[in-house]
Amino acid sequence: MSTIRRSARCLIDGTAREGTIEDDAFIYTGGRASLASVTFLPPCIPSKIIGIGRNYADHAAELANPLPAEPLLFFKPSSALNHHNGAVTYPVHSQRVDYEGELGVVIGVRCKAVPRSRAHEVIMGYTICNDFTARDLQRTDGQWARAKGFDGFAPIGPCIASGIEPSDLRLRTRLNGVVKQDATTASLVFDVPALVEYVSAAFTLEPGDVISTGTPAGVGPVQPGDVVEVEIESIGVLRNTIVAPG
Ligand code: MG
Repeated sequence: MSTIRRSARCLIDGTAREGTIEDDAFIYTGGRASLASVTFLPPCIPSKIIGIGRNYADHAAELANPLPAEPLLFFKPSSALNHHNGAVTYPVHSQRVDYEGELGVVIGVRCKAVPRSRAHEVIMGYTICNDFTARDLQRTDGQWARAKGFDGFAPIGPCIASGIEPSDLRLRTRLNGVVKQDATTASLVFDVPALVEYVSAAFTLEPGDVISTGTPAGVGPVQPGDVVEVEIESIGVLRNTIVAPG
């Protein structure tokens, strides 16, 4: 049984610190701070965030989409990166923005063409992603770049958990405290090793890159003022607030 380690990056007195989360404290070199007192940063800086579409059968069905025969990939730009407790600005271009709670795979080493049997060698750990999506623009644009790529549409965090097994983790998304998604990663159509194999066959993966593994059923719209929490067993809770465009 390996020990679970939760690494995070936080601002302490204006300085970015790397450390670990232990109970209700952030532990860093030279100090410790209560989680309530720190500002979370993204736990890694991805060169790219690779999204996986329609990777839970019940979610594909709820949007009346067929299941893909192979993993369906898209990118979220690094400019969309957001963090635990970060605000997500509702874009003026959309009338329908949805949350999508997802397990994120964080890559630990530069790699290419990794067979699924060796995927564990290139994974640093696991985080939580909320793949915010402008559903109306996803339909009308055809390409998903804009719908998935607005500034702030890729919150990740609060930490990277290593020493955990990703094959059966409970995932719940709460909108203003009401559970909207409740599933387990055991229901992934393409599991984590299969995704690492497929994605790394196409792209060189860099340390800090994130694969967001897809969302289960229960997606739905948000409005300014809403609070969305995505909780994944053994990792933690990623919380974000929706704000009106300034
Ligand atoms: Mg998604």
